[in-house]
Amino acid sequence: MTTTLDWYGCSTFRLATAGMSIFLDGYIDRVPGAPGSGLVADDIDDCDWLIIGHSHFDHLWGAERIAINTGARVVGSYETVRVLEAAGVPVEQMICVAGGERVDLGSGVTVEVFPSQHSCVWAHDHPIESDEVCLGDLGATWQEQQARMADLTAWMRSLTRSTKDHLKASDQGARGDGGALVFLFHTPDGSLLYQDTSGHWSGIFEGLRPDVAILAAAGRGNIDGEPVQGTLAEFMARQAELLQPKRLILGHHDDWLPGFSTPTNVEPIREALQAAAPNVDLLELGYVDGTTVLPL
Ligand SMILES: [Zn+2]
Repeated sequence: MTTTLDWYGCSTFRLATAGMSIFLDGYIDRVPGAPGSGLVADDIDDCDWLIIGHSHFDHLWGAERIAINTGARVVGSYETVRVLEAAGVPVEQMICVAGGERVDLGSGVTVEVFPSQHSCVWAHDHPIESDEVCLGDLGATWQEQQARMADLTAWMRSLTRSTKDHLKASDQGARGDGGALVFLFHTPDGSLLYQDTSGHWSGIFEGLRPDVAILAAAGRGNIDGEPVQGTLAEFMARQAELLQPKRLILGHHDDWLPGFSTPTNVEPIREALQAAAPNVDLLELGYVDGTTVLPL
């Protein structure tokens, strides 16, 4: 038996393990011409579980159609479940989590849920490069972060029509990220950690030793509630040092919404990893290519 991963772009993956189809996030649709799988959420006809990292549109929008079409059960934050219930997903189909739970997915697969942190979206009014050194912004209050978000909103007014239309169509009325979560899957083939935004609590990450880690590689990293001092590449290497996975897979690093996103340059990440965690094997997935990730 093997465990495979299909990447649908952004940080959406399909984990096929123990005869089950488990979607990690549910964001499939893209604007015309954007890189991706070429599929839409309604194309997904085989899904047993949907595991949602947080309730922003680029993770959650599409999960409502997949859940309704396939009857898949959902594991997500209370806010994720509230949004999906409003979108018509039967509440009996969903499990609310906040971190600390262990959910039995069946067929010998369990998933542990941990509280996590969202990347510091508020700290920049434009996408940042993986080797861009970012310093400061420490100790910002919630109110100061909200004020900084206004700069990002102003920048968004300059986006093209199709990008704005996508943002409008995907707006499910989520109240923020709903609290970011990280998941550790235990399968008969080995363990896999899933993170869908660049942040973590270091005390939590330290104790985990997944065989495989999927880590989000976009934006300004967040460690214990503060923006990373340095580059995204250094942040990724630090996370690899903490987790010590055998295999590392990136997410959120493609140009998933051109104009709004920029593709993350992987080369500085690869170099930082080689220096800090040379034993970690960085796998680069194509779209929906059924890469075998376990057993090791
Ligand atoms: Zn987000």
